[in-house]
Amino acid sequence: MTDRRTQLAANLAKVEERIAAACAAAGRKREEVTLIVVTKTYPADDVRILSGLGVRHVAENRDQDAAPKAAACSDLPLSWHFVGQLQTNKVRSVVGYADVVQSVDRPRLVAALSKEAVRTGREVGCLVQVALDAEDFAPGKGGLGERGGVSAAGVGELAELVAGSPGLRLDGLMTVAPLTGPYAGRERAAFERLMDLSTDLRRAHPAANMVSAGMSADLEHAVAAGATHVRVGTAVLGVRPGLG
Ligand SMILES: *Cc1c(COP(=O)(O)O)cnc(C)c1O
Repeated sequence: MTDRRTQLAANLAKVEERIAAACAAAGRKREEVTLIVVTKTYPADDVRILSGLGVRHVAENRDQDAAPKAAACSDLPLSWHFVGQLQTNKVRSVVGYADVVQSVDRPRLVAALSKEAVRTGREVGCLVQVALDAEDFAPGKGGLGERGGVSAAGVGELAELVAGSPGLRLDGLMTVAPLTGPYAGRERAAFERLMDLSTDLRRAHPAANMVSAGMSADLEHAVAAGATHVRVGTAVLGVRPGLG
């Protein structure tokens, strides 16, 4: 084993232990939570090692980095999740490799994703990204949170739009614990709020049962609240150099 492989295996084992412990504490089965490793800023070689170690889901947040990485890893049995703010001019590229876009936050993006999915004959899974720091805003008014996302009040309408768009599959909801607003520093409460929104969503769309929440620092809170997917970068790959 190379040093990097040894390091990634050890980190992955630690994260796996954390997820298992959080599931046990919450009385949940380990299989109820899927680990998505966020490989942004790290090279395709790392993705390949992770795949060899059994990782099946990876996530990226910038198309410029993700597209060549996904191409270099196209022989691997991986699902690619796109988790960054997505400009419509990047949709064509992203639909080329992403199985799930977790950052769906506005009608124009839904329209662009649908058009491209239909054009290429692909089905794209979509999560509506909820901005819990935008909770106080009315829909259509300051809807976008600082890190992307639609306000809680706007989730239903956007979800209906996704569900009615050819080529798109409404899979559920995603959030990032907010740094500002009423949920700042209250990850557990934020993730419970997301679960409530998911319960509402599933009344109309029972299959849209993905709840993507929790990162390296707060995955335990997400698992406790009921998340089905956690997105872990740093704890597996190491601290990212610079912004990312
Ligand atoms: C980077 C990122 C993560 C992973 O964050 P870590 O703190 O490195 O685990 C999760 N979700 C999104 C949307 C991200 O951009």
